[in-house]
Amino acid sequence: DMTMRESLNSLLKQVTGFDEFREGQEEVIHSVISGHDTIAVLPTGAGKSLCYQLPVHALGGTVLIVSPLLSLMEDQVAQLKMKGEKRVAALNSFLTPKERAEVLANLGRYRYLFTSPEMLVQPYISGRIKQLRLAYIVADEAHCISQWGFDFRPDYLRMREWLGTLEDRPPVLALTATASEKAIRDIADYLLMEQPQMFIHPPDRPNIAMEIVNLENREEKTEWILENLSRWKGPGIIYVQSRKRAEELSDLLRSRKVRTAAFHAGMENEDRILVQHQFLNGELEWICATNAFGMGINKSDIRWIIHDHLPSSAAQYIQEVGRAGRDGGQSLATLLYSRGDADTAVFIAVDDLPEPETVRFIGRCMAEGMDIVEVGERAGLSETALRVVSYWLERLGTEKAATQMGWLAEAKRKEIISMVHFAEGSG
Ligand code: ADP
Ligand code: MG
Repeated sequence: DMTMRESLNSLLKQVTGFDEFREGQEEVIHSVISGHDTIAVLPTGAGKSLCYQLPVHALGGTVLIVSPLLSLMEDQVAQLKMKGEKRVAALNSFLTPKERAEVLANLGRYRYLFTSPEMLVQPYISGRIKQLRLAYIVADEAHCISQWGFDFRPDYLRMREWLGTLEDRPPVLALTATASEKAIRDIADYLLMEQPQMFIHPPDRPNIAMEIVNLENREEKTEWILENLSRWKGPGIIYVQSRKRAEELSDLLRSRKVRTAAFHAGMENEDRILVQHQFLNGELEWICATNAFGMGINKSDIRWIIHDHLPSSAAQYIQEVGRAGRDGGQSLATLLYSRGDADTAVFIAVDDLPEPETVRFIGRCMAEGMDIVEVGERAGLSETALRVVSYWLERLGTEKAATQMGWLAEAKRKEIISMVHFAEGSG
């Protein structure tokens, strides 16, 4: 309706200074203002943040944004502050006790309140947040909720319990770039959505050219990277499979005077945030990163994305490639592919998933009240894998959890096989 459109447009201008909405934004914002639970699937870089930033200006009160990554949260807060927004705070583990007390003392004053799933389930904090006048609740990068999503985060699922305790639940807005049907079903389910309005926009990025380069082995890939980084300028990201490879490649490039740094989940939080800032500011031209890098990264002029390995799913690949050329400028995505890559990808994707037998073993140990860390060590599981397993055991019981694990391994194998078809088909 005309008046709604006009008022949304003037709100846009007033709050952001932008002249017009991008594709998808307006109807999502309209839906949230109208009080609907809403799922918005918009490509990376499409402007999902705006979808949660505008409605609160029309509705008043506080918007609670649950965000899965600390660096992502810090980035969003910084962006808002840069635009002059003062009523913004992030409740996360990064705060000193003093800062945290200050945020809690002023809770009712914020327009934007960011938090992590872990914080949200701390009884004191959730109790305080419950008392706020929440205009709506946002799950950013909502595919992390789904076990079908690549970035599955068990902690995110606890949001469901919290939502269930709200007496007069405000509308929930889920934002993601992942359009898999299963993931969307999980999102609606885990966020207790009632007849959500869905807005799904497939990615369409004609400014990103794609190429696949067939090489024999890792040594050839290294050579290729060293030679070709002079062919095109960055800024760019080289996605690699392991932390070790990220370090090695970045050392090698630095020895050739390329301004680069490694980025992976094994680094200290502070170091990761520093690298991210240096890349955003142009002090670094390249990042050699594992898939830990990039979610929510807001750098519009990334020109080149190189994959040193075969990502474990098409969705993952598309999401990583979609970080290039957000400014609309010509960009390139290069997949370096060698025949053995699929085996490695399967090995890595499935390696961390315990066999059904292991799940049963863990189930028994936990039933006997053994220390969880010790159980994980005995079963040879990583911390992440252990968290996933114990979550499922708790929620589904031993047998179902074991079956689920089998399915997940199968699904991952299939995804990787479809990636191989993709790489070999167009290479
Ligand atoms: P996403 O979360 O979908 O990946 P962001 O919300 O980070 O994307 O937005 C990407 C960039 O697009 C940001 O720099 C943002 O300021 C810009 N942007 C968003 N909406 C608009 C708009 N309507 N007009 C111009 N720029 C926009
Ligand atoms: Mg985003």
